[in-house]
Formats: sequence, C-alpha cells, structure tokens
Amino acid sequence: MTKVLRFGSLLLDLFFPADCRICKEMLGWNENYICNGCFDKIEPLRPPLCVRCGKHIDGGIICSSCKSRRIYFEKARSYGEFSGVLKESIHLLKYEKKLILVDKLANLMDGVIDGFESKFDYLLGVPIHKNKERKRGFNQTELFCYFLSKTRGIPILPGLTKEIDTPHQVGLDHAARIQNVKNSFRWRGNKRQIEGKRLLLVDDVMTTGSTVNECSKILMAEGAEIVCILTLAST
Ligand SMILES: [Zn+2]
Ligand SMILES: [Zn+2]
Repeated sequence: MTKVLRFGSLLLDLFFPADCRICKEMLGWNENYICNGCFDKIEPLRPPLCVRCGKHIDGGIICSSCKSRRIYFEKARSYGEFSGVLKESIHLLKYEKKLILVDKLANLMDGVIDGFESKFDYLLGVPIHKNKERKRGFNQTELFCYFLSKTRGIPILPGLTKEIDTPHQVGLDHAARIQNVKNSFRWRGNKRQIEGKRLLLVDDVMTTGSTVNECSKILMAEGAEIVCILTLAST
C-alpha cells in the first residue's frame, strides 16, 4: 500500500508541480520550493554597517551593542536581513530539511567573503550538539562550509564542538543568550593546528552574536590569530 501511495505522490509531483512558497506561482523544472524570481529578491545588507558585527546602523561606525561588550571576533558579515524570502529559505532548509537549497544559499555567502580584508587559513562551522544533529540529520553550517571550501579552496578545520545541549536561543533576551551559550562549546582539536591561524567561522543566522562570540573566545584562547564571522542572515 505504501508503495502505491509513494508512486501516486511521484505522479502527482510530475503532473502537478509544486508552487513557489512565496508567490504561489507554479515552479519551473529547475526551481525548487522558491522560484528564481522570488529568490532574486533577496537583497544584500545595505551600508552603513557596524565595523564589528556588520549590522545595519543609522550612523557612526560601530553599533551600541558592540560598544558595550567584549568582542572576540575581528569582524562579522552577513549576506542579508533575516526576513522575507531569506527567512523562509532558511526555515525550509533547517526545519523542512530541503537540502537542495544549500548551494543557492551558500552561493550568496560566497560573495560576502570578498568583503573581509583577511585571507583565511581555515573555515569552520558553528557546531550543534550531537542530539540536535541526530534529530535534524545534518548541521546546515557544515553544509555551507563544504560548499565554500570548494569554491574558495580553503580547508575545513574540525575540532570545535558543542558540549552542552542548550535550549534554543529563540525568545531569549541578550543577557539570557550570553548565559545560555556560556561554556557550552569546546575545542577538541589539535592546538598546534589552530595557533597563529586566521579563521572564518560560519553560521546561518546571527541575532545578538552571543553564539559566535562565545565560539570566537574559545578559538582565540587556543591561539588563533583572528576569527572572522560569516553568516547568511542577521536580524
Ligand atoms: Zn515565487
Ligand atoms: Zn555592531
């Protein structure tokens, strides 16, 4: 029976292709979940941007949040704002497991790399706890790293791990986010591999930056020369 059902749904897909999740127009044969027209509407962040965290600011060179805290990374940059089509795409990837979107999204991030003054020795993704990874089946930041490693020829450095399965950051305020991720990451790699190296840490979404800041703190303590942050979206 299940075989018949599966065959039936395959036929449905063939004869009644899906609609775009955004505009509801019928998707073309080479489009997946979001049509090219809607995808092309994802805009890069518009300057002026905070020199540290890369968020849009109305004036000045550094945002109030970066002025008031200790930051361990050199510079963070995101492709776009976490809203609209970009937010829907990240949701489709993370929660509906539409892995076919990885390359298109990572390709947006690829262009952002040119905005860093540094050349990087290694790429690394923000890890998720093994329980979460088992449940989801993948870690999207690792998939972004595979893509960027190929396009940029920068090797991936393994070793950063999430040791404590912390609750989701969603809904927590800034202070609670810092507390939530504090001491939850650990460097389990080779110290000699990281010493004096320039690292690009990759994540999907940056909200307050407490997660990437905590990871940077650990990487710097292990002897990295600098850590920069690349995210797909920021709030
Ligand atoms: Zn569309
Ligand atoms: Zn800032």
